[in-house]
Formats: sequence, structure tokens, C-alpha cells
Amino acid sequence: MKKIVKSIFSSKWFYGISITFLGVILTAIFSYNLLISVLSYLKNILINIFGFVLLVLNFGIKVWIIFLVLMSFCILFEIFSFIWQKPDWLKYNKDILKKWIWRWNYIKFGKKYEILDMVPYCPECDCNLLNRKDFIDVIAYCPKCLTEYEGDEIENEKEIESLILRKINKEEYGDKS
Ligand SMILES: [Zn+2]
Repeated sequence: MKKIVKSIFSSKWFYGISITFLGVILTAIFSYNLLISVLSYLKNILINIFGFVLLVLNFGIKVWIIFLVLMSFCILFEIFSFIWQKPDWLKYNKDILKKWIWRWNYIKFGKKYEILDMVPYCPECDCNLLNRKDFIDVIAYCPKCLTEYEGDEIENEKEIESLILRKINKEEYGDKS
């Protein structure tokens, strides 16, 4: 009998099975402990959230204060949307002025807008006009239809700018693009 018991205890099978069994039991204990601690952590969070919601709901606040806050938000929104509102004439950025088509952009400096990037286009084919230096004069020509504006002075940008500003002031900027 002793021999049988001794042989069982000394066999590799016994050690293999008992170590595996021990491992399974230890894993189960640790998993259980981990599960319990996670659940209690979640429970604490839920209790805290519930307590906070109760606190907010029971907070004694007068209805007129809520009304005043909402009204203030509405008024502020109206004021800011009025300040940030862009004028309608900013869409006016193309026109036939004197003999050419002109396109331009606006840039805001502080509260004022200024016209910039004024570019002349050919009135025949709407192609960007280029300048070419002749012996004395500077000639504007169209690279598409090769029309030359020989003898014509290159139109002064300041003059065109004045015409644009006049149209904006008189609200005569019908040709929007
Ligand atoms: Zn042309």
C-alpha cells in the first residue's frame, strides 16, 4: 500500500495534474477578486452620478434667473451676428469699367475694407490681360485673341478703384458674379 501511495506521489502525472489544478483555482480566485473590485468601482461611480443629478435637480434656482440668462444669451448672439455680418457688396467683385473687364478682391483692415488684386481682363474673350513693354510705352495685350491696346494708356488702377467705390456707395453694383 505504501509503495502504491509513494509511486503515485513520485509520478510525473501527479505533479502535472496537481500544478494545473492549483493554477486553475488560483486564476479563479484572482478573477473573482478582480470582478468584485471592478463592480464595486462601477457602483461607486453610479452612486456619485446619481448624487450629482439629485443635487442639480434640487438646486434652488429662481425661474426668472434662468429666463434672464437665456435672454442675455439671445441678446449677445444678436449683437455678435450683427458685428460679424458681412456687407452685401463684398459679392461685387467683377465689372466692366471703362473698356475692360475687371476682377478684384477685398481685404479688411480693422473696421474698413480695401480693394486689392485688381486684374484687367480682355473685353472680347475674358482672358487676363498682360503688359508688354514697347520702346516707350507699356502695351496691354490679350494672349488669347492677341488684341493689343496700342496707343491706349494702361488704365490707372486708382481710377478704376474710384469707379468701384462710387458704385458701392450708390448701390449700383448689379453685375455680381
Ligand atoms: Zn482677348
